[in-house]
Amino acid sequence: MDYQTILNEIKTEVSPLLNEGKVADYIPALADVDPEQFAMTITLFDGKEYSVGCSDTLFSIQSISKVFTFTMALKLYRKELYKRIGREPSGNPFNSLVQLEYENGKPRNPFINAGAINVTDSLISFYKNDKITYEEILKFIQAISKDNSIKSCDEVASSEMEHGYRNLALANLMKSFNNLDNESVNVVKTYFKHCAIEMNTKMLSRSMMYLANNGTDPITKLEYITPSQSKRINAVMLTCGHYDASGDFAYRVGLPGKSGVGGGIVAVVPNIMGISVWSPRLNKQGNSLVGTKALELFTTKTGLSIF
Ligand code: GLU
Repeated sequence: MDYQTILNEIKTEVSPLLNEGKVADYIPALADVDPEQFAMTITLFDGKEYSVGCSDTLFSIQSISKVFTFTMALKLYRKELYKRIGREPSGNPFNSLVQLEYENGKPRNPFINAGAINVTDSLISFYKNDKITYEEILKFIQAISKDNSIKSCDEVASSEMEHGYRNLALANLMKSFNNLDNESVNVVKTYFKHCAIEMNTKMLSRSMMYLANNGTDPITKLEYITPSQSKRINAVMLTCGHYDASGDFAYRVGLPGKSGVGGGIVAVVPNIMGISVWSPRLNKQGNSLVGTKALELFTTKTGLSIF
């Protein structure tokens, strides 16, 4: 398949849409980005990589980081993790408090904010310290992306903290239901720090290889998680990766994927490749508008969806 031609076609076809949607402005430091950028990268199992657009430009990975923290927590706690977090789609906005209240402080899944904050809490309990926890998360991301230059942006992390009342409310609500071990402020700070990690589409597409290959990096042959854990993470990405638009993403794209409010999306074509796309303007549910369209075009043109 001529992947480069397909990516070039996608870039041309999505360009009329680049002025649609809205950049996330509830995190002021994120609103500064040039909103009409576009990048897409795919990485194959033999290490070949194809890109289009500004694939070297770093952006805030935001909720994409939740895939990596979930991976770490599932590896450490296995089934025990589900005592504190569910694995069902929420059908609610990513930062909703309502459902958490009537479900007694147990978040629906690890990808809504409450669930991801809870996952970060479980990691802090394991590593015993929030600073070490962040360092372990960063080390894991650098390892699977094969890039030690990856780091968090302090400006974005502090901007999130300054405006993070709702996320703090989610943490406090869980704490009130005895479903948070550590101090809310420390947990939320660590959560913001991993959300503020910056990567480009090349790094992110590389980082998906272990999930495309049953838990083992197909290039280095390193096993990060078991095939069964990989199956489960992919399943949660498919059903919960795009908040209350997860059904729409599965319908249109047909791949396990995870979005972030920085405008990035990662996706997995099982046994074939990792994909990442980036364009900052978001649709109403907080997912990249052009990114979703680009992935839809990709699976339509190549036939590479799981369905
Ligand atoms: N750090 C963001 C928040 O908590 C992540 C949201 C997202 O990327 O969807 O609001």
